[in-house]
Amino acid sequence: MSEVPPYLQRGYITPEELFGIIPKPSEERLRARPVAVPECPQEIPCAPCREVCPTNAISMPTPNDIPIVDYEKCIGCSLCVQICPGLAFFMVHYVGDKARITMPHELLPLPEKGEEVVLLNRLGEPVGKGRVLTVVPREKTKGDTPIITVEVPVELAWDVRAVKVVRG
Ligand code: SF4
Ligand code: SF4
Repeated sequence: MSEVPPYLQRGYITPEELFGIIPKPSEERLRARPVAVPECPQEIPCAPCREVCPTNAISMPTPNDIPIVDYEKCIGCSLCVQICPGLAFFMVHYVGDKARITMPHELLPLPEKGEEVVLLNRLGEPVGKGRVLTVVPREKTKGDTPIITVEVPVELAWDVRAVKVVRG
């Protein structure tokens, strides 16, 4: 029996582990325009991301393979983020000293455009505050999960993977 990788035992994957499995987009590409990055290292029978991609940027020879994105073919449409049932696709765009992260947001309440939210890392720990730039509600996405785009300090681009809404 093969050994269970540390990220499966732990329940989350670090950026270092992720980019030991898939290529990391170059700094130049991250600054050019939004790019989709799958955080889906398990060989599970699933392929809606590949099916929805309008530019065939997602390669996955069989549904049991992991998705690999051709970052040059990705047009940043966010459909893979919208449809992924595993909440495993994110988009990243570096803009100056900020990064814009597009992510699924399943928890209630849904933040509003312009709202300041608490940024959470891969462990669900607060790591700072950021502003919500766009919100696509459930009924307007391809899947069942709303997606949001949040602006975070660029040094947190690969740490922030969720947000918490705090009001009142
Ligand atoms: S953002 Fe759009 S173009 Fe890019 S990989 Fe996802 S579905 Fe394909
Ligand atoms: S849709 Fe999501 S869970 Fe399924 S293969 Fe693509 S990235 Fe992985």
